[in-house]
Amino acid sequence: MVQETAVCRRVKRQPARASTVLRGLALPFFWLYSYDSTMRSIVQTGDPVLRAIAKEIPLDQIGSSRIRSIIADMKLLLGKEEFGVAIAAPQVGESLRMFVVAGSAALKRKYSEKKREKGETEDYEKFEGHPTDDEAYINPILIKTSRGKKDKHEGCLSVRGKWGEVPRAEKATVRAYNERGEKFERGASGFLAHIFQHEMDHLDGILYIDKATSVYDDADKK
Ligand SMILES: [Zn+2]
Repeated sequence: MVQETAVCRRVKRQPARASTVLRGLALPFFWLYSYDSTMRSIVQTGDPVLRAIAKEIPLDQIGSSRIRSIIADMKLLLGKEEFGVAIAAPQVGESLRMFVVAGSAALKRKYSEKKREKGETEDYEKFEGHPTDDEAYINPILIKTSRGKKDKHEGCLSVRGKWGEVPRAEKATVRAYNERGEKFERGASGFLAHIFQHEMDHLDGILYIDKATSVYDDADKK
């Protein structure tokens, strides 16, 4: 009580002027804004946007500044993640049908780091012919998957601290639009095929933990 009274007195004696408060606030906000062009962060499980069916992007909107800036934010956030290999728009709070896959160099490095951690052998052949830039897939459709499914290690930037075993097809083909609004098709096997399936699920409100045959905490040893 004594302390409270003392605080009240001090406030009464030295009332903060609005202009002083604003100056104090403006500087750090401006600094943050200029330091990092996005105020977004990766949405975590429990947020309804991850459970919504994402909407298609009208084709005439693909080159718009809004869509371009969302893609830029997705690339920026993905780039900050040591083990991030792809990100879907709902993960940055936008219920839109698109995802970004990291360029192959980053993909290779992150993939081999993960493999080494688990004491498995790296397999670079799986990455041949993949682009080196981050690639946006807009309004993607999974047009083909191979029949048999195998359990694969999977994690998600929206489910921190966990990983699981998820049955996925070994091969998958996606048809989508790129950032220039051009239609393209990409067939993949192995890791990229699993990424396609994981990201397509995000657009339908599905997380890997829904499909996993087992889920572990990061600290758990298999
Ligand atoms: Zn994910």
